[in-house]
Amino acid sequence: RLSTTLPSASKVNYPVTHEKIANPTNTRNFIDNQFVESKATRWIDLHDPATNNLVTRVPVSTQEELKAAVDSAAKAFPAWKRTSLLTRQQIMFKFVSLIREHWDRLAASITLEQGKTFADAKGDVLRGLQVAETACGITTQLTGEVLEVAKDMETRSYREPLGVVAAICPFNFPAMIPLWCLPIAAVTGNCMVMKPSERDPGAAMIIAELAREAGFPPGVFNIIHGQHDAVNFIIDEPRIKAISFVGSDKAGEYIYTRGSAKGKRVQANLGAKNHAAVLPDANKNATINAIVGAAFGAAGQRCMALSTLVLVGEAREWLPEIVEKAKQLNVNGGFEEGADLGPVISPQSKARIESLIQSGVDEGATLLLDGRGYKPEKYPNGNFVGPTVLTDVKPHMKCYQEEIFGPVLVCLNVDTLEDAIDLINANKYGNGVAVFTNSGATATRFQRDIEAGQVGINTPIPVPLPMFSFTGNKASIAGQGGNYFYGKAGLNFYTQLKTVTALWRSEDAVATGASTAMPTHA
Ligand code: NAD
Repeated sequence: RLSTTLPSASKVNYPVTHEKIANPTNTRNFIDNQFVESKATRWIDLHDPATNNLVTRVPVSTQEELKAAVDSAAKAFPAWKRTSLLTRQQIMFKFVSLIREHWDRLAASITLEQGKTFADAKGDVLRGLQVAETACGITTQLTGEVLEVAKDMETRSYREPLGVVAAICPFNFPAMIPLWCLPIAAVTGNCMVMKPSERDPGAAMIIAELAREAGFPPGVFNIIHGQHDAVNFIIDEPRIKAISFVGSDKAGEYIYTRGSAKGKRVQANLGAKNHAAVLPDANKNATINAIVGAAFGAAGQRCMALSTLVLVGEAREWLPEIVEKAKQLNVNGGFEEGADLGPVISPQSKARIESLIQSGVDEGATLLLDGRGYKPEKYPNGNFVGPTVLTDVKPHMKCYQEEIFGPVLVCLNVDTLEDAIDLINANKYGNGVAVFTNSGATATRFQRDIEAGQVGINTPIPVPLPMFSFTGNKASIAGQGGNYFYGKAGLNFYTQLKTVTALWRSEDAVATGASTAMPTHA
């Protein structure tokens, strides 16, 4: 279980309140294991979403700084690649133990910069930490294959690192996504340049500090900041061999297309519209709790938020209870005890969410619960939106077509399981989906016919643990998929296969003369 109790500020070494910070400091670059003040001429103000007070200023790193980060990574790579796997594993052991030690501090940074509740922020860290912990098993995960393919001849295959790799991260999981990338990339022998979200880079900066303390040599992990210019630099820099991207459709499709055209390996996880199909035979209480938690948790700002409810047959009668439960949620500053959901990331995001709610109303949906204009007493200036429920939603409506990324549950009614499957499959996204039922046959049918890449059966957010991979599908992943994050696929992404075929004659070779035909060893 996660501890949801707020630690004291002294233990955390980071603000654990939303009080105005008297002298906000600048976020720095992290290059060659040094935190360096940027010489940027452009800076991005980062505000606490609960108050809109200034927290820090994030640099738009200069071209020289971006280049210095890649120089450092490229310089570190040959020695890091040669460093024994056991040494890299030891550093990882230290790294994971430091993350656990600094768990509260990381979570506090997330609550302050991103807005999610402290308990939820702890989950954000833990989900990333679990990837790092799993990466510690690299000594058994990276073994290759060997086969005697002909007399005295064997072929062995093994995995080698790619070189310098880059990660471009979104705002909604400031610790988890960096930790989907760095541990696997580094333990397999790559050197990484990361660009965290300019909206909340604090957790990544703490991760850098812990990586250095754990013993990662200079250059193995670097952080630069910015927006489009930094992304374009990463795409165009020939020494960067692979890009990991998580974020919105627009940026992801651009990075995937341009990065691939430049010959880079790209993994890109994009947006979503995750549906829950609820059958009337489901366990009612557990289902309602699961839906309300997964729709409104993190203020709906999860790529796996369960934002779309498909009520099958009589399950539509559960809607009033769902609304009642949603009303009871405590919307507050993320550091407040008992807060269930915090603010959304920015005033622009709040305005966009509110306009999508209005579009639903304008297009004929019924607004059962309206969270617009909600202001917690202590936080009148925050970007808060309360839980909102729209029903009678139809597939053509904008509130159904677009990812809202806010605490808004859109509900549709259908008559049969087949109708639910058809409706969900017709949606362009395919990240996650859930079915709630007590029938094994129904669940099996659903699991088989549904096209989403991650299926929950009586489980609202089926994000696989790191022994599996994060397997989004359709428009939730760029390209045709395959380049999944973490798990075996993640390991494959950050490595390339080398095969070596060796012939060591066990007796003196018989002189046969040169053959120009293709050797087949048959
Ligand atoms: P975003 O695309 O705005 O930002 C992601 C990163 O891309 C940031 O580092 C940003 O600086 C950069 N960026 C933004 N616009 C760009 C552009 N036009 N060109 C180049 N770079 C650009 O995404 P976000 O708002 O930070 O994150 C939320 C989105 O991420 C949601 O759509 C959510 O569903 C998605 N997401 C997906 C997953 C997943 O695994 N499928 C996980 C988390 C978040």
